[in-house]
Amino acid sequence: MESWPRRLMAAASVLKSSDMPHAFVRRLAVLICIFSFVAAPGAQQPPSTAWLDPHRDAASRLLGEALANDFAWQRLAELGDTFGHRLSGSKALEDAIDWAVVQMKKDGLENVRKEPVKVPHWVRGKESLEIVAPYPSGLVMLGLGNSVGTPADGIEAELLVVRTFEELDAAGSKVKGKIVLFNAPFTTYGETVRYRSAGPSRAATLGAVATLVRSVGPPGLRTPHTGALTYDANTPKIPAAAVTTEDADRLQRMANRGTTVRLRLKMEAQMLPDADSFNVVGEIRGREFPEEVIVLGGHFDSWDVGTGSTDDGGGTIVTWEALRLMKKLNLRPRRTVRVVLWTNEENGLRGGTAYRDRYRDQLANHVLMMESDSGVFRPTGFGFTGSDAARAKIEGIATLLRGIQAGRIGPAGGGADIGPSVEAGKIPSMSLEVEGNYFLLHHTPADTVDKIDPMDMARASGAIAVMSYIIADMPERIR
Ligand SMILES: [Zn+2]
Repeated sequence: MESWPRRLMAAASVLKSSDMPHAFVRRLAVLICIFSFVAAPGAQQPPSTAWLDPHRDAASRLLGEALANDFAWQRLAELGDTFGHRLSGSKALEDAIDWAVVQMKKDGLENVRKEPVKVPHWVRGKESLEIVAPYPSGLVMLGLGNSVGTPADGIEAELLVVRTFEELDAAGSKVKGKIVLFNAPFTTYGETVRYRSAGPSRAATLGAVATLVRSVGPPGLRTPHTGALTYDANTPKIPAAAVTTEDADRLQRMANRGTTVRLRLKMEAQMLPDADSFNVVGEIRGREFPEEVIVLGGHFDSWDVGTGSTDDGGGTIVTWEALRLMKKLNLRPRRTVRVVLWTNEENGLRGGTAYRDRYRDQLANHVLMMESDSGVFRPTGFGFTGSDAARAKIEGIATLLRGIQAGRIGPAGGGADIGPSVEAGKIPSMSLEVEGNYFLLHHTPADTVDKIDPMDMARASGAIAVMSYIIADMPERIR
């Protein structure tokens, strides 16, 4: 049965809440609660979802608790405000990991632990890029993660602009001795990111001395986007940096006019020996099948600009929040729900591979793995990859999320950190899906908590809690 009194209480508690940061957020919360009454499953449900009936009350309570306050947003704000960025190898990341352990224990999560992972330790140092001819002019830049540095007085060379790898190859011998700018306008991340990751080595094969890449993201306010590059083993390593879309356009216009542009790039970047880090793990142990596990999580490391609030502090907090909500409401599902705050997604993926290696003989007991790493904006539902039978169950559970407009199940789900385990164990995989301008903020100094709406975090937390709780609590395991 639907618990109307409880829903009314949830709505009322939102109305009363005085610690919500904005009045409009309160109004939105009330509208959402009211809408959830209208859309509440009940008499009009087709009989095929009767199996959901034993779970409706828990789902309602989890959503009510999630929407009743801005706990998740406040926790994310504290994380970013206190520790700043959390690049692998930094003291800030390790101190934030210790903070998370303390907070998880305070939440009452079980088996809270740190699992060791050796991570790459890249440091940026000071860096700059300037036009030296025809007239001196500073450009806004960010070195790419894992890049080598330049000599102390920098690299000065003539600019060559290309839009594609085809244009690079066509330039042939003209590439030698140049600083190559890849000026590929952003389409999708998957399509455009190859200029950042593979561009430096492609240019180096033809004799380039350094590489610039147009930031992988839509035009912002002259904001550069960093991110990892991958050097080919057999190619000289040349320094590489991202420039803003505005500066890339300027350099393109100058090149189009036939202006000879000379640039000077200075970067102190270097790779230090591997550092010690940890995945943070917390659980709600299952009451009936504790060895069967549903894993949730996001990556706790970030780039060394901004505070990594959308990428991926928010993802770690909303998945962690699912367990906190269960604990708070004293809901213990049949199976274990485990949150993992993954380390080193950004420049190594060592957290994800270490987990796979550590749990290799238990991957068969992994019922589902879920990752949230697309920012926490307006949640629309989940992507899912798995069997048709499992999808049918998940679509059934998602009907309980229609009231918060987060009931859409997309054709595919997964994530970088869960990828190694999902692949090795053939585990059904899921990702939170959201609508928002993620790639405007991604890997930039503008990735800070103020871009995130507390109510979006509350709704995402509620949706993840309902989805994971019911999958963990159904009598039959999804397969
Ligand atoms: Zn991320």
